[in-house]
Amino acid sequence: MDKKRRALYPGTFDPVTNGHLDILKRASPLFSEIIVAVGKNPSKSTLFSLEERIDLLKKSVAHDKFQCPIQILPFSGLIVEFARDNKITTLIRGLRAVSDFDYELQMALMNRKQVSDIETVFLMPDEKYIYLSSSLVKTIGRFKGDLKNFLPEPVVEAFHKKF
Ligand code: ADP
Repeated sequence: MDKKRRALYPGTFDPVTNGHLDILKRASPLFSEIIVAVGKNPSKSTLFSLEERIDLLKKSVAHDKFQCPIQILPFSGLIVEFARDNKITTLIRGLRAVSDFDYELQMALMNRKQVSDIETVFLMPDEKYIYLSSSLVKTIGRFKGDLKNFLPEPVVEAFHKKF
């Protein structure tokens, strides 16, 4: 793959987990820069505000090492338009179990219908993150369960503050 290529990693990141970071780490040698696009979706209610989600991503990324620069930006509306505005044609998504596949296939094909040169690259996380999701983590967090194996340190702290 051309190392000069920039890529977009879109998602809700409510909040960022070690699974998201694992995908970012795997993607980082493949691209020259990755923009993590944090969605502001009015129809999705989130536990963490857009500002909190961005802040937690910035802190978590700063804690770690990646092989290309990582930028964190908010977006609203359609990801293909955000990609076009930023002159990016590659999207990164993570694939966990088979259950992700239907939705991801639908999204990737819909995005390509809207902008024909958009391609989605799917990466698989380490097995230990296959069952990790932000929603599961929120459930554990609400009941004050132990989160340190699933979340970067700044996110664990944010949960302690919230609950
Ligand atoms: P969305 O709301 O768009 O699904 P998420 O923030 O939940 O956004 O996830 C963003 C991307 O990261 C998605 O492609 C999702 O499949 C992937 N992802 C989330 N958790 C994991 C994980 N544990 N391992 C691998 N990929 C993951």
